[in-house]
Amino acid sequence: MSTMLESAHKMVKRAAKQQGLQDGQVTKLLTPTKVHSFELSVHGKKHKAYRVQHSNKRGPYKGGIRFHADVDEDEVRALALLMSIKTAAVGIPMGGGKGGVAFDPREHDDAHVEAVARAYVRQLHEHIGPHKDVPAPDVNTNAEIIDWMVDEFATITGDTTGATFTGKSVGKGGSLGREAATGRGGMIVLREYFASIGKDPKMSTVAVQGVGNVGFWFAKLAEKELGVRVVAVSDSRRTLAVKDFQHNSRVLSLEEYQGHKRGMIEDLDSPYTEFYGRDAVLALPADVLVLAALGDVITSQNTETVVAPIILELANGPVSDEAHDSLIKKGSVVIPDVIANAGGVIVSYLEWLQNLESTQWSEAKVNAKLEEILGDASRRMFMVATEERCSLKEAAFIIALKELLI
Ligand code: NAD
Repeated sequence: MSTMLESAHKMVKRAAKQQGLQDGQVTKLLTPTKVHSFELSVHGKKHKAYRVQHSNKRGPYKGGIRFHADVDEDEVRALALLMSIKTAAVGIPMGGGKGGVAFDPREHDDAHVEAVARAYVRQLHEHIGPHKDVPAPDVNTNAEIIDWMVDEFATITGDTTGATFTGKSVGKGGSLGREAATGRGGMIVLREYFASIGKDPKMSTVAVQGVGNVGFWFAKLAEKELGVRVVAVSDSRRTLAVKDFQHNSRVLSLEEYQGHKRGMIEDLDSPYTEFYGRDAVLALPADVLVLAALGDVITSQNTETVVAPIILELANGPVSDEAHDSLIKKGSVVIPDVIANAGGVIVSYLEWLQNLESTQWSEAKVNAKLEEILGDASRRMFMVATEERCSLKEAAFIIALKELLI
């Protein structure tokens, strides 16, 4: 199976070929401007750390910092490139970057995690800033960790805007609407997809893999605003589905599911639901399969079991390259991550704008701006896919490449 970096390069090369780009242009697109690779020494332990600044052609580098034992330079390079593609594909004036520290914060106490966060900023402070590079949270990092980073950066540089980082807590300059932004974005993109094929989403059945932050907000908002029927959800242990959902009009109660997440089988064993294995969600005959858990969940090993005609990628890279091509071949539609999960980075951009203007927008204003940016980006992707007769993923990459080469 290809690594994430190989897959990202393959997609860029494919879109570049379609656009007739020269080898030199492709090499330029694939090469990050700067790779910072260093070691943090914290409380007697050493952790490898990275910040890859891929492109600042369209605005400051933008992308999260993850704390995870598996972080390595190739992964951070891949994610930085994909951030440049994502910000360009949705047309926000920011570039692409990514950072990471190779350690598992769950194996360390808060004091150690805080010391790592502060050491990371001390090492990088000359290379980040509101108009240089604007990091954010990612896997295993959150608003509390970002607040520590902001504090360290302010102590070193005297910066008071808070605009060097996004994903801060609301009291420290974070944006209203950020929590639901990625799920809301997914709902907007799905709505635009249905509009593009002239179909009313009302009563369409939806199965959601992973009802964490992104999956939960997507499901809640899609039910409320699109009128779809969420009929199945899954988490890292199991799938919960409405029994015989193709032949009734029942909806799975998210409130009930959320309230009973830990003891789902025991607490939700109602006549309306039944349980399958964890991956059973992937094979359900729903109209839309939403992937909101992890990368590489649909691969060449299990593509055949996927029957939903529409697949919405809310996690990063949940459908492998090989699986993507097989799904397209059999007529399925894959709505790609770079657009479908861009709601988070768009609201991060809006947070940055608010910080630069020393203001805080209402949640309604944030949502309206998100709606405008992502609605436009989705419609552009559908149009290019039709014009170029290509998949939605290729269309998103073509749009991004054009932006990055201007
Ligand atoms: P989260 O940790 O809140 O939720 C992840 C959910 O997936 C959890 O409910 C977990 O139980 C479930 N899960 C884990 N392994 C699973 C498995 N094998 N099968 C089914 N479910 C499984 O994370 P999140 O913030 O909701 O992010 C979800 C995905 O979206 C991640 O891939 C993340 O990188 C991506 N993403 C998140 C954002 C954001 O704004 N949070 C933005 C862009 C992309």
